[in-house]
Amino acid sequence: VDPDLARWPVRKLKQLGAEILLKSKVTEAKDDGAGALDVTVTDDKGANPRAIKADKILVAVGFKPNSAGLGLEDLRVALDKRGHIVVNERLETNVPGIYAIGDVTGMPYLAHRAEKQGIVAAEVIAGRKAAFDVRAMPSAIFTDPEIATVGLTEEQARAQGHEPRVGKFPFSALGKAQIYESPAPGTAKVVSDAKSGIVLGVHLCGHGVTDLIAEASLAIEMGATAEDIALTVHPHPTMSEGVLEAAEAAAEGHSVHAL
Ligand SMILES: Cc1cc2nc3c(=O)[nH]c(=O)nc-3n(C[C@H](O)[C@H](O)[C@H](O)COP(=O)(O)OP(=O)(O)OC[C@H]3O[C@@H](n4cnc5c(N)ncnc54)[C@H](O)[C@@H]3O)c2cc1C
Repeated sequence: VDPDLARWPVRKLKQLGAEILLKSKVTEAKDDGAGALDVTVTDDKGANPRAIKADKILVAVGFKPNSAGLGLEDLRVALDKRGHIVVNERLETNVPGIYAIGDVTGMPYLAHRAEKQGIVAAEVIAGRKAAFDVRAMPSAIFTDPEIATVGLTEEQARAQGHEPRVGKFPFSALGKAQIYESPAPGTAKVVSDAKSGIVLGVHLCGHGVTDLIAEASLAIEMGATAEDIALTVHPHPTMSEGVLEAAEAAAEGHSVHAL
């Protein structure tokens, strides 16, 4: 995610005494005979080995679709190079009458995407006019503080030919955020298109922000501008004022409660 967001959980982990080794990999783990593991960690080129004592190793990379051995090849259901089932916006495979939804259809691997696809597939099967036509796919990360994002980052917006305009607001300037932690960690960021003002992305890090991102998803789905969010009254004192202030910053170049 956007480094502006990632730095907050990193700071918290360091406060808790965690050491973070980036661009590294676990190359070996041996039972030390006393209930723990002797782990070897190297850099990403396999050099500079370092010994670490560990209770557990959590492998959180290497996801792949579990589509082999289901008979899909016999039915000639088309798979992509990684083994995901290829579907169209109606969740139809290339074989009439066979549909697929969820992680097995590819990235992003998210429960709410799978759920939405399931509803669309059921509607299509029931003969309704339906399509998986989603502009905004939010993502919630349950770090401390939480991270929630939807839409384009500044870099993605630029790569897609937009001239991005970014409004930022620090949660340290928000009253409600102070009751959770002082100084309150976190940032709200609104990325809009400089010419049209249309919201392209919203990126939040702070207490409970995963509950705030749906407003941003609605804004993107409705083609709202940053000014639309800024002109919408947000209740005080709430964390949602952070989204309001970041939208003001994107629309006006400044927000009321931050210099
Ligand atoms: C640790 C972890 C944390 C996650 N956290 C989040 C989160 O916070 N938010 C979020 O949105 N998403 C999260 N996800 C992703 C989310 O779980 C998936 O996107 C979602 O479960 C996808 O739903 P699905 O129905 O496509 O697949 P699954 O939920 O994986 O369901 C597939 C089912 O098919 C069954 N199955 C497999 N092969 C066969 C077979 N041959 N015959 C019969 N049954 C079979 C499996 O047992 C399983 O029950 C997380 C995933 C993991 C692993």
